[in-house]
Amino acid sequence: TRKRLVMGNWKMHGSLAANAALLDGLAAGAMRAGETQLAVCVPFPYLAQAQAALAGTPISWGAQDVSVHTQGAYTGEVAPAMLADFGVTWALCGHSERRALHGESSDLVAAKAASALAAGLTPVVCVGETLADRDADQVERVIGEQLAPVLALGAEALARLVIAYEPVWAIGTGRTATPEQAQAVHAFIRAALAQHGAGQTRILYGGSVKAANAASLFAQPDIDGALVGGASLVADEFLNIAAAVA
Ligand code: 13P
Repeated sequence: TRKRLVMGNWKMHGSLAANAALLDGLAAGAMRAGETQLAVCVPFPYLAQAQAALAGTPISWGAQDVSVHTQGAYTGEVAPAMLADFGVTWALCGHSERRALHGESSDLVAAKAASALAAGLTPVVCVGETLADRDADQVERVIGEQLAPVLALGAEALARLVIAYEPVWAIGTGRTATPEQAQAVHAFIRAALAQHGAGQTRILYGGSVKAANAASLFAQPDIDGALVGGASLVADEFLNIAAAVA
């Protein structure tokens, strides 16, 4: 059985002072998650702070991006081994904000996932359609194209990563996908993974997840947890989401 996972994506939010309070709140309430795994993906400068606050707790930490390169003249990039130096477990790859605002292609995203895996990190590969794609009935074509280079990494890689389905129109909009809409896409992703020998890879849902809608999403057979943006910035709300899965 697939272990449930609730992961926060802080995006570009936080400060040393604000993070200290949030991390303390998470560590203090972590037991509320029961068997559900908890994780937070923080801005690069705060990885050391997350490590110091969360080491020895059941909560793991991750980065929001990772370089395809191992080292060299790549100003501004962060190598996967550097993340591993700070005890990082997870690296988001191809969040829709990186695809849309930083021109990341699906090939680059798959290369980032391979780069993370090679350093022993677990990539969380994000996919999702825009509202225009959905209105044009192109959801499966778009998700299929985003997944293709990831699927090509092969069964062994696929068994070691996580997929996050985040419909762009549901991110930060308060407009979450219905459980049925999300399940339909998760089932499509599950079938594609299964065709490549990785039917048990975890698939998270992301997009306006909050405590009030978490239970109905997590009741779906192919939703294995959540990637949470805004609601992950408030310890109690984030833990309530995890408690809804437990
Ligand atoms: P929100 O939960 O704020 O909609 O963000 C979702 C997201 O993009 C997580 O990566």
